[in-house]
Amino acid sequence: MGMDQKRFKQWAIRVIRIYPLIAIGLLGVAYLLGGFSERSNPLVPRVVVTGMLYGLIVVVPLIAILIFVGFSISEDRSRNRNLKNLENLPEGDPFDLAQEEMHGFKIVSLTGESPTFTGVTGDTYKFDGNAICKEFPDHVPPVIGCECGFYAFKERRDAQFELSIHPGFFVIDVDLFGIGFSHKYGYRAESQRVNSLEFPKRCMRCKVLPARVFIKSYKIGYGNNAWWHWSVRCSSCVRGVKPENRLTIEQMSKKLHVEIN
Ligand SMILES: [Zn+2]
Ligand SMILES: [Zn+2]
Repeated sequence: MGMDQKRFKQWAIRVIRIYPLIAIGLLGVAYLLGGFSERSNPLVPRVVVTGMLYGLIVVVPLIAILIFVGFSISEDRSRNRNLKNLENLPEGDPFDLAQEEMHGFKIVSLTGESPTFTGVTGDTYKFDGNAICKEFPDHVPPVIGCECGFYAFKERRDAQFELSIHPGFFVIDVDLFGIGFSHKYGYRAESQRVNSLEFPKRCMRCKVLPARVFIKSYKIGYGNNAWWHWSVRCSSCVRGVKPENRLTIEQMSKKLHVEIN
């Protein structure tokens, strides 16, 4: 996907999230202007209201579906193109080796009885470490054509967008080292050091009051899979959580060996 298309997709997802509000707002305006009344001469003619209802319920969602079908077709195309490019690489070609210092942002969840960084794919890591390849043990990540290595976005706003579709995660700031591949939005590299974790502004439970403290809770997933999951809560929502399941920001910072700010 091109730069503009990626930004457009982020924008489209945001609009879809607030679409119900836009639709209700328009219908509300029509109602206030008399579009639903039985009066013979309403401010908004009934045919406009009927047309608007039709548009909001049928036409706009159809257009949205078409746009997202378009996205997925073009994503498939660019993926195929990338695969072809990989196959056509001349031997020994330095595949976009990063020349610059690799600094970036990514999202993690904190899991485990003792809090541990956990990526979106479920891989866990410490504040400082070398990547390992789960598929091919003989790989020293990153390997061309494989997915192994530590990933990070170059820009904070890309990590923040990911955060908005992964509630309960945190944004971290990382430096990457060793061999690293650079692409438009990010890096994939051999080793990683986590510099800091952004403490969320709001409580993850009530979503209103400012977050104050980390708490762990037990989650049960598919197949009786169970794990400890860390989140943040406000002073009100933390009531009733056992003291042994709480950590202050300072305590969490010591456990993770990273700054929290
Ligand atoms: Zn690999
Ligand atoms: Zn709260």
